[in-house]
Amino acid sequence: MIKMKNQKEIEKIFIKHRFKDFKWINPQKIIVSHWVRLKCMYGCKEYGKNACCPPNTPSVDECQKFFMEYNECVIFHIKKKFLKPEQRYGWTRGINERLLKLEQEVFFTGNQKTFLMFIDSCNICTNCSKERITCNYKISARPTPEAMAVDVFSTARQLNYPIKILHDYSETMNRYAFLLIK
Ligand code: SF4
Repeated sequence: MIKMKNQKEIEKIFIKHRFKDFKWINPQKIIVSHWVRLKCMYGCKEYGKNACCPPNTPSVDECQKFFMEYNECVIFHIKKKFLKPEQRYGWTRGINERLLKLEQEVFFTGNQKTFLMFIDSCNICTNCSKERITCNYKISARPTPEAMAVDVFSTARQLNYPIKILHDYSETMNRYAFLLIK
């Protein structure tokens, strides 16, 4: 991958926001698959209930085209184990808020295309409006990579990042946020 002109400056922003575990990836190598969307439609309780999840996201083909418009992306790896499952959403909300600040700072380095994908479905509000058009925080709400049909398992493994199917909350989660930059 060609090194970005201001890569060092951008990486300093990541460190400042306490995201030290990240890897750069060519967005052309992000794996977009129809099976991911089918898993959203059949098997996920968020389907139709979150304004940043399908069916409130572009079609799989549109997602694929979207990634093709980029040349630089960063994947952030965030590891966590919970004592109680109900701690998950408060924790991911805090991480997503920090990522939003980071996204804005990267944007202001002169990268107008900068676009963040959250580590977990948007839960800025306790009661989601369920539709994009009525979203309470349109400026801040972002989709997850999975909502954009990204096969996070295969994409993370290309970078030798750990990821596996978990059976319950006693196991450590390996979650990933994506930042498309240029
Ligand atoms: S900001 Fe609120 S309404 Fe909008 S997607 Fe997130 S949780 Fe839903």
